[in-house]
Amino acid sequence: MTGLRVRADRESPKIARQRRRLLAWYDSNRRHLPWRESRDPYAIWVSEIMLQQTRVAVVIERYQEFLARFPTIAALAAAPEQDVLALWSGLGYYRRARMLHKAAQFVVDHCGGVMPATAEELQQLPGIGAYTAAAIASIAHGERVAVVDGNVERVLCRMEGLEAENGAGGAAALKRAVWTLAAQLVDPARPGDFNQALMELGATVCLPRNPQCLTCPLVKDCITRGEHKRPPRAPMLSREIAHALSVRAGGKSREVLLEQRPATVSVMPGLWELPSLREAAVPENEVRMTVRHAIMQVNYYVRIRTVFEDDVDALTVAGGERRWVPLSEAANMALTGLARKVLTRAHLLPTLLLDAIALQHNADVV
Ligand code: SF4
Repeated sequence: MTGLRVRADRESPKIARQRRRLLAWYDSNRRHLPWRESRDPYAIWVSEIMLQQTRVAVVIERYQEFLARFPTIAALAAAPEQDVLALWSGLGYYRRARMLHKAAQFVVDHCGGVMPATAEELQQLPGIGAYTAAAIASIAHGERVAVVDGNVERVLCRMEGLEAENGAGGAAALKRAVWTLAAQLVDPARPGDFNQALMELGATVCLPRNPQCLTCPLVKDCITRGEHKRPPRAPMLSREIAHALSVRAGGKSREVLLEQRPATVSVMPGLWELPSLREAAVPENEVRMTVRHAIMQVNYYVRIRTVFEDDVDALTVAGGERRWVPLSEAANMALTGLARKVLTRAHLLPTLLLDAIALQHNADVV
């Protein structure tokens, strides 16, 4: 292991060889994903935001739906926020959708509806950080800038045997070293493809727990050829909560009781959820289902109780505006990931393959 220093003896022939091998591997092995067919910066932007913290399989269909509904920045900017959040439902981390929407409005209001082209300018838009700006600029405009996501960081750390040193600043120093290394490596002729190739290698070959070194195009230049030491992950916390599932006969279809989270709360403001029960300890014979739902570092163990309309006031805590919503309408609302999960498992929402994938995803990270 070499600590944090990027090795000064990196010869350009070695870098040229790594670029050549990685790009050749990418040309033959890359997955054909819808956003890779486009050089439209807006489409690339949408895909990059969706792909942050969400699996590719989940993103594929949502990306196409999103672009069909909002094909341009102007269309996105003009849409009501609730429509944007509704299309985001199932992807989780709704702040991403809100920031995307705000940035689209910013581009329309202040940039004449045209996205800036360079990574530096792109970072001036709300919600676009160094990673997203570099991804858009390199893929859409061929700017020679490095992109470092979790996959790239893992590949480069293993390649060079980099690890964070103990003590304050160790993780930050590691990040700087990785960005420096990535900037040295990025191919000047095909920066967008190179960046995607490195991310692809991390996603499909240099896997977190089981790196496939025998099929890796960079194995000859890799110092570790396998897993390297990483700081231990923070342990997950556990919480128990309970929600009410209230369904009644409506005019044309059944209706479910939903509650909108206040706009002032910091977590998922404005989204629709099932009302909370006063008591998390639901009697065992009243439990309709239990659901594990992870948000950040917390595992929520959620008990769902069927509550009849007449008992709602006595059993639940009112936290926001409530509405009886036809089930056909609920599917298109901006639901929390947990509400969507529960309604789908209760067979109250249409079960699409997409939902099944999204639920699997949400159980892990949303
Ligand atoms: S050789 Fe193995 S550890 Fe090194 S980059 Fe390739 S897959 Fe990752």
